[in-house]
Amino acid sequence: MDTSTSWNRDASVTLLQEAVAVASSIARLSSCRSRRGVVLWDRFTRTIRGAGFNGPPRLRACPGREVCTGTCGQRSVHAEARAIREVGSSLVELELVHVELAPGDALVACDGPSCPSCAALILDVRFVGGVHLHEAKPPEWCPHREVPRADCSFCLGVDCIAVRGKCDLDVPGPCAHDAAARHGDLPVVVGRWRRYTAEEFYEASVRTIRQATSSWTSTASQ
Ligand SMILES: [Zn+2]
Ligand SMILES: [Zn+2]
Ligand SMILES: [Zn+2]
Ligand SMILES: [Zn+2]
Repeated sequence: MDTSTSWNRDASVTLLQEAVAVASSIARLSSCRSRRGVVLWDRFTRTIRGAGFNGPPRLRACPGREVCTGTCGQRSVHAEARAIREVGSSLVELELVHVELAPGDALVACDGPSCPSCAALILDVRFVGGVHLHEAKPPEWCPHREVPRADCSFCLGVDCIAVRGKCDLDVPGPCAHDAAARHGDLPVVVGRWRRYTAEEFYEASVRTIRQATSSWTSTASQ
């Protein structure tokens, strides 16, 4: 697939949003239940250098839910690996964007880095500057916006959408409305984008196997 052509059509859309849109359309090519898409983009030339989706080797069809569920990660080629292979090598650092699509094509908000072998590959090739994941927001984040509650003027009560005009904002301290009302019609957004350096991504991924291994040994020794 030719992904090297210019993909910036609307300057008002941020680079990340564009990369996410491309990664999502790549993820739709996956025949597996968990559809992943990865793009590697060059933020200086605004071009995509590599892209990939997850699935069985040689683009064979997914063996089906019964076989795929729980074994997909082991039997499939990962989107990251395909995207990296497409790039080959790069003299400039590239940004990696990973998406997972839910049924209906909404983005899945994941629980953080979880694949140590991809993380090792990403670190090893030396040309990945950042890894962007769509993660579930921690409770201290605003449910509507991609900022911590501490940085959200609606959460803090110094701004109010829903009842502007009837709001006691000119009295000192936060307004009297509850946090949900202050955000008005802003939809609830469960995920936020997080950028890791390749090094941070590797460390966070490896931590997940250490945790899995220690809960394993503690079960085994019982
Ligand atoms: Zn599958
Ligand atoms: Zn992986
Ligand atoms: Zn808020
Ligand atoms: Zn108010």
